[in-house]
Amino acid sequence: MMRKGENIIFGCHFPRLYLCPMKLLDGKLVSQAVKDRLKTQTDERMLQGKKVPHLAAILIGNNGASETYVASKVKSCSEIGFKSTLIRLDADVTEQELLFKLNELNEDFDVDGILVQLPLPKGISEQKIIETILPSKDVDGFHPESVGRMVQGLPAFYPATPYGILLLLEHYGIETKGKHAVVIGRSNIVGRPISIMLNKNEYPGNCTVTVCHSHTPNLKEICLQGDIIIAALGRPEFLKADMVKHGAVVVDVGITRVADDSKKSGFAIKGDVDFENVAPLCSYITPVPGGVGPMTIAALMMNTFKACAAKD
Ligand code: NAD
Repeated sequence: MMRKGENIIFGCHFPRLYLCPMKLLDGKLVSQAVKDRLKTQTDERMLQGKKVPHLAAILIGNNGASETYVASKVKSCSEIGFKSTLIRLDADVTEQELLFKLNELNEDFDVDGILVQLPLPKGISEQKIIETILPSKDVDGFHPESVGRMVQGLPAFYPATPYGILLLLEHYGIETKGKHAVVIGRSNIVGRPISIMLNKNEYPGNCTVTVCHSHTPNLKEICLQGDIIIAALGRPEFLKADMVKHGAVVVDVGITRVADDSKKSGFAIKGDVDFENVAPLCSYITPVPGGVGPMTIAALMMNTFKACAAKD
């Protein structure tokens, strides 16, 4: 059984040649460090009589995973000392009603950051919702203005998941300059933005990036060239040991619920990496859960703090 945050040499079923001291990229630990730092900064703001960051979250319907994510975000706000407002809307809310709510939050000076938990019910345009949130309150970093600024290397709200990955790489001092980063997945919320962020001309960045997707024919050969692999495709245990080179850094973004009768909840959370067999090859790897997930929340908190501080 592996223990978090330690060097672990795997034995038994792997030939010695492939053994490698592997370190976990512990998202729980690093996200706590980020949140502790934010708490100190928030306490300082209070002492100085400045505004405390305020996040408004909109949760629609009764999606179990969305409930869990939003609850973690609200809990993190309270741990840090941020104000939070949770707005619950029925699954049959209309697009008009949601847009109305968003406009109210846009106009509310006290609200610094707005997030609408995705996915949205059928019939509501995700793009319209994303574009309605004021860019200055777009702490999820999905608005085209935020994305455009990020692409141009201007100060911007980075999308929370890729931003969290950067914070994790930075915390562990992982060398990225000149490395070949292979990103599997090209979604607007993970794959595409992380590919741009890893390619930028500063640390963590300066990678040569290859983005793979569902139409990439020679994915295995490309993955084998990766010094850093970001798996963000949503296919449980897709990345196998024969796709990963010795010493690679592997970041597993995937979160998929798969039925598991042995769990009280009835499901287990699976990442996109065959962790058991890939981990022994890696220099660093994220666990699932406890890797990218907590970092996404830490990054959202960083964005919310920045949104508030920008009003000073
Ligand atoms: P998505 O479905 O929007 O995009 C998946 C991408 O993977 C697509 O670009 C597709 O081309 C690519 N893809 C699919 N099958 C492929 C294959 N066989 N080979 C190569 N590429 C393939 O997903 P997403 O929103 O980017 O999320 C990806 C995963 O990350 C999901 O499991 C999601 O739950 C998880 N996620 C986790 C966090 C977190 O905080 N940890 C945040 C966001 C998403």
